[in-house]
Amino acid sequence: MTNSLDSLILGAGISGLSLAYTLKQDGRRILLCDRQPRVGGNITTGSAEGFIWEEGPTSFSPTPELLKLAVDVGLEQELVLADRRLPRYVYWQGQLQPVPMSPPAAITSELLTLQGKLRALRGALGFVAPAMGSQLSAQGGEETVAQFFQRHLGSEVTQRLVAPFVSGVYAGDRISSGRYC
Ligand SMILES: Cc1cc2nc3c(=O)[nH]c(=O)nc-3n(C[C@H](O)[C@H](O)[C@H](O)COP(=O)(O)OP(=O)(O)OC[C@H]3O[C@@H](n4cnc5c(N)ncnc54)[C@H](O)[C@@H]3O)c2cc1C
Repeated sequence: MTNSLDSLILGAGISGLSLAYTLKQDGRRILLCDRQPRVGGNITTGSAEGFIWEEGPTSFSPTPELLKLAVDVGLEQELVLADRRLPRYVYWQGQLQPVPMSPPAAITSELLTLQGKLRALRGALGFVAPAMGSQLSAQGGEETVAQFFQRHLGSEVTQRLVAPFVSGVYAGDRISSGRYC
């Protein structure tokens, strides 16, 4: 009985770790297990020859809950907060183009053609074709990210705004082949 547990947590990614921390604060007896010989799950930091890099997440939205957790576990001094107003750019046709962050900026943006803007506006107003087709059936009814955005906002938004974001996160260009899901 002295070895009994209140909770067994499988998976020591950020979800399992946060849960373990919360339950431990309540005085629960827990055991946290992972099939890998390390904790963190997707959160992986590599280092070699004096360099250090992230192989998974590099940023997060600073919600009150996450900030509280970071402070509670003693990471307050490690937090690097970015300025929300900083512009984002997409390198397009030989130059950095600001990502439109507001409707007026979207109208004047040189990242999209007039045709691309009108196509996106049509989707933004709700004129969106339903998802269907033999390809979708072959995919078990699940759309890829590329298919979803093409259907809603058109191919220009997909290629020039969505693809840079997704490939930036996943360091790949699989969205352009429509395979990303
Ligand atoms: C390349 C990349 C970049 C990302 N960038 C960001 C970012 O910038 N910002 C952001 O907010 N999010 C980002 N994400 C998403 C974020 O990393 C994940 O949402 C988050 O890490 C998921 O955490 P999790 O604990 O739910 O799952 P995971 O991290 O997947 O952890 C699950 C754990 O469970 C273990 N496990 C699975 N099955 C078993 C089993 N049967 N028995 C025991 N253990 C098991 C696994 O080994 C793993 O350690 C990124 C993801 C990737 C892949």
